[in-house]
Formats: sequence, C-alpha cells, structure tokens
Amino acid sequence: MNALDEKLNRFTKYKISEQTLRKFIDYLKQQAPVFAPHHNGEASYSYECVENSAEVVLSYPRTMQPLKKYFLPPREVLLNFNIKDNTFSKPEIIEETRIFFAVHSYEMASLKRLDYSFTQGHVESNYVSRRKYAIFVGISYTPDESHFSKSVGIDVEETEGFDLFLLPVGDGYFLLEITDTGKRLVEGFPGLAAPDTTEIKTEPLQFKSKIKYHHNRLPAVFDHVYKSKVWDKYAEICVGCGTCNLLCSTCYCFDIRDEVDLDAEHGTRTRYWDGCMLNTFAEVAGGENFRGSLARRTRHRLYRKFKYITAKSEMLHCVGCGRCSHFCPVGISMTDIVNDLITDYEEKQNKEKI
Ligand code: SF4
Ligand code: SF4
Repeated sequence: MNALDEKLNRFTKYKISEQTLRKFIDYLKQQAPVFAPHHNGEASYSYECVENSAEVVLSYPRTMQPLKKYFLPPREVLLNFNIKDNTFSKPEIIEETRIFFAVHSYEMASLKRLDYSFTQGHVESNYVSRRKYAIFVGISYTPDESHFSKSVGIDVEETEGFDLFLLPVGDGYFLLEITDTGKRLVEGFPGLAAPDTTEIKTEPLQFKSKIKYHHNRLPAVFDHVYKSKVWDKYAEICVGCGTCNLLCSTCYCFDIRDEVDLDAEHGTRTRYWDGCMLNTFAEVAGGENFRGSLARRTRHRLYRKFKYITAKSEMLHCVGCGRCSHFCPVGISMTDIVNDLITDYEEKQNKEKI
C-alpha cells in the first residue's frame, strides 16, 4: 500500500452509488445552499448554485472561473457614499454556511493561498466573512493536458481543507469523512449503509503536463532567471489579454473605482478584479508605466507565483490548475515557460562551472 492509500484508509468511508450521491446533494441542500460544477455551454463548466442535483457534473476537467468568485466576487460594491453630507455606508456581508460540492484539490489549495494573502497585515474582512462557514466536499479528477498540480506538490487526492472527499470506485464512489463537520453531515443523511472496510487502492494518476524540477527547487531557479531571454520569447506571442490573471485561482489583484451618480451627490466605491498582464495595471499619473512591456509583465506574473509571495508564505502560489494554459488564446503554457526557465538556469549553471 502506498503512502497516499495509507492516509486515505485512515478516514471512515462509505460506498455510495451515483444515484444515492445525488440524493445526498438533495439532503445537503436542505442544510445550506450548495454550489457545484454545472455544464456551461457544450465544452465549459462553471460553479453554480444547485437547483437540481441531476444537473451537477461530477467528472469535469476544470471550471472556467475559479471557486474564489464566491469569496472575492469579480465586482463588489465596498461602500455607498454621499458627497453632500460626507457620509458612507458599507453593504452588509452575511456570514452564512455554504456548501461547495465536487471541488478539486488544486482549487482547495488555492483558497489556502488566498487565506494567506488576505490575512497578512490588514485583514480583508469581506473575504474572511464569506470564507468563515464554508464547507467543502472534494472529488478526485483525471488530469488533462493542462493540469500540473502534482508538479507543484498537490496530489489529485489531497484532502487538506475538505470536510468530505469523494473517490470514484467502480460504479460509484467512496465518501470519506475528513472532519467532524463532514461526519455530522454524513450522520444526518439516512441513505448511507454502515462504514465500508474495503481497503482503498488508488492508481497513480499520470499528468501529461509536468515541470521538470521538483517544486522545492523552483524558488532557487527564480533566483537566477530575472534577466532570462525566455521572457522575450513568450512576450512575442502574448497578446496581453489578461485572461491568465483573471481566471487564475490564486490571483487576487483588484482595482477600485469611485463612481458618482448624475445627481453629483451619491456614489459607489466598487472593487473589480484586475490583472498584472493588462497594460494599464502598472500605469500611473502622467502616463508612466512601470511594466510597459509584455516581457516585464510576464516576468512579474511568474515571480508572483514562484518567488515573491513564496519567500514569505513558504507556499508556491501556483496550484497547477492549468487555467492560464488552457484558456490562453495563443496557447502559452505555464509549464512550457517554467521548463524553458529551468533550461536557461541549467545553461547558466553549466557556464559558471567551466
Ligand atoms: S492569456 Fe495568454 S495571451 Fe493573454 S495575457 Fe496571458 S499569456 Fe498573454
Ligand atoms: S498560474 Fe495558472 S496554473 Fe497556476 S494557479 Fe494560476 S491559473 Fe492555475
């Protein structure tokens, strides 16, 4: 038995058919709103509030937008103000239990990164309030050509952060109790038989997309590639659309805009997702731009994932979801960039030895 199987076998587990699993979703809906992957058109998926458990998609590669949209909305009114009497009010953030169902391990890992980013220094209270009572039911997945989470240290069956976890087996699933919250949910559902004692045996899942170094070595690579030609190589084909930022599970940069109504009295302060690959991101008054070239913006994006925040948090801030690679309109792949940087690093190291 491998180490992963040993870990998984420590949890109490139940064998559950897909039909019963959908009844379990109906049961969860009676406890709290449930959000889960749904088809969005023919080839896309998105997390949506579950109306009908039959529409929940259990096997999917990735949703287009990450789960963070529920904790850091793409557009959020932070306050309403009145210029005339110099007052403002903040919209109330309701701290409620929400259940996120059929979530992949890289997505859960991305919330751990956002938890770090939003609780350092001045705590981002809106994010923390939305996150507080969230319950997570994980599910394993089959890596496609863009996933590379194993390369950044996140197993498909990583259970950290989840309350329950689903492992496909034969014609159904093992439902694993990870936390006391998960246990309480399972205990309240009348449709489950006694715990199953069959041993879990997972097949090692093959990732087609890989980083060629162990993830522990990546920060050291980034110590030596700041002036690499690799940045120019990818900047030549990048169109600066910002898709890679805006769909990234761990990016959290935002812009804040104050908009005054036509009455010149009332207005709103609104936060919008922003992205460092967009030309305007580092533009300041007078038309100066600290990262005016795509090469510099690409470099900044990757240093944010593999070096800057990692040095403080001791976590890579890329979770290998593959969204940036999969949805890039010109096919730029995150693993290609990192592997090219590693090659450049190795060449530099070899030259220094001569
Ligand atoms: S999605 Fe692709 S083309 Fe768009 S900014 Fe990112 S790397 Fe460039
Ligand atoms: S950088 Fe790309 S692969 Fe990494 S977390 Fe962001 S979208 Fe996912």
